[in-house]
Amino acid sequence: KTTSKPPPLPSPLRFSKFYQSNMRILVTGGAGFIGSHLVDKLMENEKNEVIVADNYFTGSKDNLRKWIGHPRFELIRHDVTQPLLVEVDQIYHLACPASPIFYKYNPVKTIKTNVIGTLNMLGLAKRVGARILLTSTSEVYGDPLIHPQPETYWGNVNPIGVRSCYDEGKRVAETLMFDYHRQHGIEIRIARIFNTYGPRMNIDDGRVVSNFIAQALRGEPLTVQKPGTQTRSFCYVSDMVDGLIRLMEGEHTGPINIGNPGEFTMVELAETVKELIKPDVEINMVENTPDDPRQRKPDITKAKELLGWEPKVKLRDGLPLMEEDFRLRLGISEG
Ligand code: NAD
Ligand code: UDP
Ligand code: UDP
Repeated sequence: KTTSKPPPLPSPLRFSKFYQSNMRILVTGGAGFIGSHLVDKLMENEKNEVIVADNYFTGSKDNLRKWIGHPRFELIRHDVTQPLLVEVDQIYHLACPASPIFYKYNPVKTIKTNVIGTLNMLGLAKRVGARILLTSTSEVYGDPLIHPQPETYWGNVNPIGVRSCYDEGKRVAETLMFDYHRQHGIEIRIARIFNTYGPRMNIDDGRVVSNFIAQALRGEPLTVQKPGTQTRSFCYVSDMVDGLIRLMEGEHTGPINIGNPGEFTMVELAETVKELIKPDVEINMVENTPDDPRQRKPDITKAKELLGWEPKVKLRDGLPLMEEDFRLRLGISEG
């Protein structure tokens, strides 16, 4: 008999090699500030395929314009409070407004994004066996009574205040991550991100660095919220992205603080922006908002020891890079 044989099946080994070397990565909130820089870095590796899911609440397609149409890139308009069905190997879960004025704008939506959004991404990770990284926040330490803050500190958070939708939302998100890890064996990573700045921040998003730079460039007084002695520690976005990728690729669940330990009062920050950008600009003291943490500085011992990571860009070197981007977007030239 001369019946033709079916072609041989592809070797399972060839398939597994293919899948091992190619990584499909979901970035939720990838159209935002940190997310879009993370996407840039992930896309540099030709073995990565990147899918962004974002509802554009605070992010913008503009932040990703260089990747739209790229064969290894996909952009989905999606709200993470709704279930998402995709097949991926890794999930960087960033979706959540990060600036106080945006997360307070619709607090119920903020807490839904943190709780239901994280639950959905964990359900997805469980179904497809993906590793998932949550971008938690230094806000889980609240108005900290220990300084600087190590990961072992449980925090001092007001559960019913105007910031709680964000702080408590992220705390529940961390709880969900650990419960899925313990109960379902999901591979998790938790980064506790401290204040981050850099190009592509929303110009009018109300965060302190973007406010001061935009105000200085427009020749408006810098608005220091009282008392001005409160401190923050600012990490440049390229250092942040580097830390997040190391955490994802490493062997430790975290939580791990990722931030720059260089600590400044808001008056010092205003003086630095004034000196670097517009020496004759005024500094005005204005009213503050409730529950503003008085001090914040990461203890990064764990990141150094477990990830071999520490920030490289000093505030004085990072601010001019952000100034350049703000000048372009505001259409204000030098001089
Ligand atoms: P961002 O506001 O620029 O980015 C957040 C992105 O998430 C935006 O693109 C937004 O449209 C998207 N998003 C919001 N809600 C969504 C939803 N329901 N569904 C889908 N997409 C949604 O903020 P960022 O500064 O890039 O922050 C990114 C992550 O890092 C956030 O999880 C934030 O909590 C965390 N973080 C940031 C800082 C910081 O200083 N920037 C500090 C601590 C933690
Ligand atoms: N989920 C999702 N994508 C998936 C799998 C699950 O968005 O690929 C959502 C699902 O809709 C559910 C959540 O993740 O609301 C938690 O899923 P899990 O399977 O853990 O719980 P269950 O569906 O049993 O409540
Ligand atoms: N802040 C300020 N002027 C502004 C905006 C903020 O002095 O125009 C202060 C604010 O009171 C807080 C600090 O800067 O103490 C950081 O605020 P931001 O909203 O940037 O971040 P977060 O409070 O989430 O750390």
